[in-house]
Amino acid sequence: DAVVHWFKMDLRITDNRGLWEASEKAREAGVPLICIYLVSPQDFEAHLTSAVRVDFTIRTLRILKEDLAALDIPLYVETVEKRKEIPDRIIEFMEEWGASHLFTNMEYEVDELRREAKLVKMCTDHGLAMEVFHDTCVVPPGALTTGSGKQYAVYTPWYRSWVAYVHANPELLATFDPPSKNPPDARDKVAALFDCDVPDVSENKTLSKEDAKRFHAFWPAGEHEAKGRLERFCEEKIGQYAKRRNFPAQAATSSISVHLAAGTLSARTTVRTARDRNKTKKLDAGNEGIQAWISEVAWRDFYKHVLVNWPYICMNKPFKPEYSNIEWSYNASHFKAWCEGRTGFPIVDAAMRQIRGMGYMHNRCRMIVASFLSKDLLIDWRMGERFFMEHLIDGDFASNNGGWGFSSSVGIDAQPYFRIFNPLLQSEKFDPEGDYIRKWVPELKDVRGKAIHDPYGRGAAEQAKKAGYPRAIVDHKDSRNRALSAYKAGTGRD
Ligand code: FAD
Repeated sequence: DAVVHWFKMDLRITDNRGLWEASEKAREAGVPLICIYLVSPQDFEAHLTSAVRVDFTIRTLRILKEDLAALDIPLYVETVEKRKEIPDRIIEFMEEWGASHLFTNMEYEVDELRREAKLVKMCTDHGLAMEVFHDTCVVPPGALTTGSGKQYAVYTPWYRSWVAYVHANPELLATFDPPSKNPPDARDKVAALFDCDVPDVSENKTLSKEDAKRFHAFWPAGEHEAKGRLERFCEEKIGQYAKRRNFPAQAATSSISVHLAAGTLSARTTVRTARDRNKTKKLDAGNEGIQAWISEVAWRDFYKHVLVNWPYICMNKPFKPEYSNIEWSYNASHFKAWCEGRTGFPIVDAAMRQIRGMGYMHNRCRMIVASFLSKDLLIDWRMGERFFMEHLIDGDFASNNGGWGFSSSVGIDAQPYFRIFNPLLQSEKFDPEGDYIRKWVPELKDVRGKAIHDPYGRGAAEQAKKAGYPRAIVDHKDSRNRALSAYKAGTGRD
């Protein structure tokens, strides 16, 4: 007999609810705990998972395997070529190892929920038990409704309700201990499983040597790194977060999104750690930086709740159905310029080069480039959403879709469509010295003063031209008017 925990986007041993429950079950029954992870190249394709994200997952699995082995728990990793075969493979595995119980944490995207539902039924048919836990959010989806019992469609009242719910249910922030060590005889029963290797991935998701070196330096993998990052951020930066978070040249944010996305860090640990540093021990009172940061982490919960409440957003549809008829431009050369960071708008180009260089982009810049693509270029926001997933190390369907919906005005609680970012003003306000631009756009590194925001318009034309920096591909005033007409015509709204 044995108990199995199936890892997915919860690649940690600390504060992992499903894993802890599995461990308790195994301990009570006196049977071994076995962990599995199934690598699915087809899933990576279907979810547009970036190569840098896949690489991060593989590196994390190696660390997880060692951490579990220190507890005499095997992590069995196998590649399953066809994703629809995953449930069959799990049942086979359970039967092969005489396991009676399967534990896992829930994923809320439509495909994953369907797969989980199918697996629960298959387990029942085979006389096996399966338990699925809420783990990824602090507050489980479905828990919060408005006074009239509806789902929240606006963040601020949702957030008030989220805070009140956590204060009323403090156990939501309790921690789950790592699993107990497998007893010695149990270890022997599963000894063969310790021998498996973590596989490399298919060619099209492999990083070049040069990219691997760069990304590994930016993003060390695994939960120990995640914990260290969180603690350093809370020690050094959280107090100033509210004031500094919008300035991309300052490393003022936590850079833990990759860990929340891969599950090397739990949202509970994150919020609890921040709250415990707050003298008030509250989420919404006391230190401003702490409050602001917790409310950002809550956006992640918010977008997952939205996904559960309105699952059609998983099917390429805008949250607001009345925004389905906007006539987008499919100008390939504009899209290419945006992807390559050659639009002639320095702040946009710096940001697009950051995503290519780091697999990451600062939040303010994500908003600027998303607005620029969907409004200034009037290109279908879904093309940008897709590009982000294909390049981000922290790509997360719910947050990415939510962010694109917000910036292109087709999403939940979005900016009204007539509020269009002016890239030049954004640049002057949030990168006042131009340090972020100079870092990512080497053609402009010698441009001094205000010309950095608009070299051709502000007296640095010769310099920019000589360095091969392109002219602006659109005129913001014209493209703003074009966007306003297209949004108005498509939605029938003023
Ligand atoms: P911090 O500022 O330190 O925030 C802490 C954590 O809170 C983040 O790690 C993240 O988990 C959460 N968070 C913060 N802001 C948001 C937000 N606006 N929405 C949801 N969660 C938030 N975030 C992703 O994790 N994955 C994505 O694929 C993603 N795509 C985005 C696309 C667009 C167009 C936009 C506008 C935003 C997107 N975000 C996404 C949200 C946000 O930009 C990143 O979470 C943030 O930049 C990560 O940096 P950090 O960890 O230093 O954040």
